[in-house]
Amino acid sequence: MNIHEYQAKALLRSYGAPVSDGRAVLKAEDAKTAAGELDGPLWVVKSQIHAGGRGKGKFVEPEAGEKGGVRLAFSVEEAAEMAKQMLGKTLVTHQTGPAGKQVNRIYIEDGSDIERELYLALLIDRQTSRVSFVCSTEGGMDIEEVAASTPEKILSFSVDPATGYQPYHGRRVAFALGLEGPQVKECVKLMGILYKAFIEKDMEQLEINPLIVLEGSGNLKLLDAKVGFDGNAIYRQPDIAELRDTTEEDPKELEASKFDLNYIALDGEIGCMVNGAGLAMATMDIIKLYGAEPANFLDVGGGATKEKVTEAFKIITSDPNVKGILVNIFGGIMRCDVIAEGVVAAVKEVGLQVPLVVRLEGTNVEKGKEIINTSGLNVIAADNLSDGAEKIVKAVKG
Ligand code: GDP
Ligand code: MG
Repeated sequence: MNIHEYQAKALLRSYGAPVSDGRAVLKAEDAKTAAGELDGPLWVVKSQIHAGGRGKGKFVEPEAGEKGGVRLAFSVEEAAEMAKQMLGKTLVTHQTGPAGKQVNRIYIEDGSDIERELYLALLIDRQTSRVSFVCSTEGGMDIEEVAASTPEKILSFSVDPATGYQPYHGRRVAFALGLEGPQVKECVKLMGILYKAFIEKDMEQLEINPLIVLEGSGNLKLLDAKVGFDGNAIYRQPDIAELRDTTEEDPKELEASKFDLNYIALDGEIGCMVNGAGLAMATMDIIKLYGAEPANFLDVGGGATKEKVTEAFKIITSDPNVKGILVNIFGGIMRCDVIAEGVVAAVKEVGLQVPLVVRLEGTNVEKGKEIINTSGLNVIAADNLSDGAEKIVKAVKG
């Protein structure tokens, strides 16, 4: 689960991290008051969407102006005007995809004078199963670009959970970032704060790009914050759950989460309904093997009811990109007849505009096949996984 920059900053501030004063604005008419509460003489007006690269992004609507999604203003009036221009408009960045994202919230921040822009992230390293620090002197820009062209400029190391965060971790970051004198101590303290927040709040990603050195004082400040949380741990983070902005999420995924379905929308044309995450992955692989792309990942789970299967089917068919559906069920705990009933009920309710291939195996398979066969539906039966994939790809691609 992701949150907005302004929410992430408020959270990190509560842990003692240095961030600028700022105000979130949801309505254009509130922008002037919000900006007036900040000191100036520089204001930063920032589009709040769950995607990075806003500064270099572009708005679809010409009324939003030529500049990107992060703008510098030199008066309260200018800041308010910029907020008005961006609110409700569609911002396209390299992370949003070509469709972009609508800006429904603006964060107006007290502007900082920057000496240097640095990169810092805490991530779960899946290879070592540990929390990793990633840092670079090349902040502010595309870290993927730095990683590709000058990987030697990125330092990464993981923290042993047995010791947790230690001051030497912070010193390693400080030296890699070229910090000196009192900055080193400041960095050690700041890294400890971020690590604590990361662990306590079940974060998955905490990216500060840029972490800045302030002009004049040389102090550190978090100028941007991109934070994601482990969705499986949200149940024990009620304060984080409250920050969820469902307008930022895929409506199909949102609907699926209401029914406790593990659904991830993808770009392909073959909708998949599968039980078990491993089988769902294998199904996606084999669809690709036969030359098509999966439209989704969907694990209906072990104990799916007829209602749940019906909802899953509805979600798949609501995707206009879906040109065919493959139901692939291995009934272990899940019974094939329950799946069959769900599929039949769903098709009767929402209709079937695209070819449907069903492969059933396991518990009550004969009963399941009978339900499908006597339903009068135009279903293509498959005997095994590769047969099913081959048939659906053929039905879609001809
Ligand atoms: P992103 O483009 O989505 O990563 O948004 P950021 O919050 O990182 O802002 C993009 C860029 O705007 C930063 O890299 C800075 O160069 C600039 N910027 C952001 N806040 C300030 C500020 O307070 N003062 C100045 N001078 N520049 C800022
Ligand atoms: Mg940034």
